[in-house]
Amino acid sequence: MERKYIFVTGGVVSSLGKGIIASSLGLLLKKRNFRVTIQKLDPYLNIDPGTMNPYQHGEVYVTADGAETDLDLGHYERFIDSNLAKINNVTAGQIYSDVLSKERQGNYLGRTVQMVPHVSDLIKERIFQAAKETNAEITIVEVGGTVGDIESLIFLESIRQIRKNVESINVAYLHVTLIPGLKVINELKTKPTQHSVEMLRSKGIRPDILVCRAEKALSLSLKEKLALFTDVDLNSIIESPDVKHIYEIPLSLEKQGLIQRILQRLALEQRTPELKAWQEFVHRIKNPQDKVKVGIIGKYTKLEDSYISITEALKHAGAHLQTEVEVEFILSDKLSDSAQLAKQVKELSSLIIPGGFGDRGIEGKISAIKAARENKIPFLGICLGMQCAVIEFARNVVGITQATSSEFDESSSHAIIDLLPGQERSTLKGGTMRLGNYSCQVQKETQAYSLYQKEVFSERHRHRYEFAKSNYFDLLKEKGLLISGLSPDGQLAEIIELSKEKHPFFIGVQFHPEYKSRPQSPHPLFLGFLRASLEQSRAVQKLKNF
Ligand code: GLN
Repeated sequence: MERKYIFVTGGVVSSLGKGIIASSLGLLLKKRNFRVTIQKLDPYLNIDPGTMNPYQHGEVYVTADGAETDLDLGHYERFIDSNLAKINNVTAGQIYSDVLSKERQGNYLGRTVQMVPHVSDLIKERIFQAAKETNAEITIVEVGGTVGDIESLIFLESIRQIRKNVESINVAYLHVTLIPGLKVINELKTKPTQHSVEMLRSKGIRPDILVCRAEKALSLSLKEKLALFTDVDLNSIIESPDVKHIYEIPLSLEKQGLIQRILQRLALEQRTPELKAWQEFVHRIKNPQDKVKVGIIGKYTKLEDSYISITEALKHAGAHLQTEVEVEFILSDKLSDSAQLAKQVKELSSLIIPGGFGDRGIEGKISAIKAARENKIPFLGICLGMQCAVIEFARNVVGITQATSSEFDESSSHAIIDLLPGQERSTLKGGTMRLGNYSCQVQKETQAYSLYQKEVFSERHRHRYEFAKSNYFDLLKEKGLLISGLSPDGQLAEIIELSKEKHPFFIGVQFHPEYKSRPQSPHPLFLGFLRASLEQSRAVQKLKNF
């Protein structure tokens, strides 16, 4: 089998949605029964995004094997419905660090270490490794950044060279670009794209396909002009118009024959895709019968990408229940007035406190959880959100008024949430948390069990602190907190909840269920949470109509 490669680059501006285009390609090929994987090459110098602030980079996505990766990996997994791994996200930081450590080990003895061939060889090796490890027939490789960036030059050089290594019939280049419009003259402009393609060609890459983002449809004459100046075939100039839901994009690309062009280019047989289920999913998202308003309280709410897997997981569950989910982001720093906050929480259908780090905004989150618990507003606490729920319960139900986490107060003698065993020895910050898949054992006759319908499953983690058996387990249990999921050795709380008699839906999980939700198989916790939200919103409606 000859493996095929599709390289996706971006031009003119950043944030064009290259990740969604790469994911859509993956989906459309997978629905034709090709074995596909998607890899992201990130030109920045961090080893991974794990040490970056979400405002720099959006959410950090965690793979099953515990890699902290770019948020695009989340889109890839959701669209192609398969688990990716560490090799699917390669950064310049990883490459340079490998080259330098190889140099120290003497791998290049006697030679001068250079960008070409040493760095470019290593980049190509990673691309081939991704294809091999996943046994993909087609590997889609998205190059992060915008053509013209200094950092991405060596990545462009490497993907150019691959054409030589594997023969040009096995390689296709797709360039995602912007066709901006000038409102005053009501015209779309092709010049920035001409320049961006020219720049690509100066690096030895001639795009086979152009995917054009534009606010309105491209006229035939505009496409002809693009074809003339960029040397891309007219029928390979594809539009990607703005849509309300990202899940519509593959359908729009399919209609324009994008995959036919690609298969032709790669000398692969044409096949008909099986898109019925996807169409049905999109139909359900676009035609909701109900609506709920979910509040998400966090520190990074100004950038919605910070919580992208959660909002997508809500959409998947929403599509399943044909319910539109309106998310209200609430900035945790500003929540000092607890009466006002309780009022705000009561107006929501439900509340999520997502993962996070550090003590800023913590007291607001704890007050919001109290309001959700006391007013029976459905609540889902994720990672830090679960830890805050335990602290709230300890303070306001058990009466340990000083309860906290050692993350917020290192010297506290009431650290109900404390460092995981072994973490105190770790001084390095990158990649040292409890990361990736770990098993959870669920107690029967709990909400968690009734949602999962399984006693053991694994979920993805990313944390340094924990609610452990040695820390007040019994005291909190006595007062009614159910520790419904545990690590297999019984030492760490994985899920906490309040019984159905006490609260319609009050669950905290130490892991991140959002990473595993997929469009056509919504996560059971999000599904249960959304069902409860729907009931809450109907009850409020009823009261209003009374
Ligand atoms: N800061 C907390 C910890 O490290 C929670 C982490 C998270 O929410 N991902 O345990």
